[in-house]
Amino acid sequence: MIPDYLAEALGEVAADTTGETAGYIPELATADPERLGAAFAMVDGEVYGAGDIDTAFTIQSISKPFVYALALSDRGFDQVLAKVGVEPSGEAFNEISLESGTGRPLNPMINAGAITTHSLAGPEGLQPTERVERITDGLSAFAGRRLKMDESVHASEMEHAHRNLAIAHMLGSHGVLTGDVQAVVDGYIRQCSLLVTARDLAIMAATLANRGVNPLSGERVVPEPVVRQVLSVMFSCGMYDAAGDWATQVGIPAKSGVAGGLIGALPGQIGIATFSPRLDSHGNSVRGVSLFERFSSDMGLHVMEVP
Ligand code: GLU
Repeated sequence: MIPDYLAEALGEVAADTTGETAGYIPELATADPERLGAAFAMVDGEVYGAGDIDTAFTIQSISKPFVYALALSDRGFDQVLAKVGVEPSGEAFNEISLESGTGRPLNPMINAGAITTHSLAGPEGLQPTERVERITDGLSAFAGRRLKMDESVHASEMEHAHRNLAIAHMLGSHGVLTGDVQAVVDGYIRQCSLLVTARDLAIMAATLANRGVNPLSGERVVPEPVVRQVLSVMFSCGMYDAAGDWATQVGIPAKSGVAGGLIGALPGQIGIATFSPRLDSHGNSVRGVSLFERFSSDMGLHVMEVP
C-alpha cells in the first residue's frame, strides 16, 4: 500500500519540470534532471520506496546535520557551541557572514558553520585525511552500509571553491578555524561528495528519528541528546533561506542538498528521502518540496499538529 501511495505521489509531481540543476558545480549541472524517487524508512526497520531510490548522487549539504552530530558526539556540546551557533540566518547557504559579537558562524547548516563543524569531527589533532575517514565512517554508520566518494564531483567543486575558501579564510581570521584552512575546505568538499541513494538517505534520517540508533543495523551511531540538538537545528535552519516557509507548511525537521536530495526525520516515526535534481531559487529540490508538502498533509506529519 505504501509503495502504491509513493508511486502515485511521484506521478503527480513528475510533470513539474521547473527549476534548474545546480549550475555552480559543473559535474552537478550534467545530472539527469528527470530522475525522481522517494523512500520511507520506518523506525522499526521497514523501508518502502518508488522511482529512482537506488540511483547514486552526492550528498552535498545533507551531510551537514550528520557531521554536526558527529562533532557533538566527538567533542561535546560546549566545544562545538563555542564555535558554531544555533540561530537561523535567513540568508543563502553560502553567505559570507558571522554572528556579530562572537564571530561564530550563525548555525551548522550554512556553509560557514558546516566548514567549522567539519573541522570538529573526530578527536582533536586528527590529520585532514583522518578526519575525512572519521566522517566517512560516521555517515556510513548512519546509512548502514559503506559509502564511497565521487572523486570527479570533488575535483569539479574544488576548481570552483573560491567562495568556500573565502569563508574558510574569514573563519581563520576570527580564530574559529585554525591550521591549514584550505585542507579543511578540501575535506568539507570531500564530505559533500559522498555518494548516497534516496534509500540510504531515508535510513540515515530514520536513524535520527530512531533516537540515534540505525533501525536496520541496530548500531547506536550518536547519543540521544545529540539527536535532539540536530533535529532542532534542522527544524529552524535546514532549508536554507526558505526555512520559515518549510517549518509552517511542512513542519518536519529537514535538510536539502544541491544535488537534489531532501530528507525529513519525524522523531519516533519515520525517515523520509526524496531525489529530484532540479532546484528552486533557494537551492531546494522543486519536486522534493512538493512531495514533502503532500506527505505532510496526507499523513498529518506536521510536528505542531496533534496526530
Ligand atoms: N558542496 C556544496 C557547497 O558547499 C554544498 C551546497 C549544498 O548542498 O547546499 O557549496
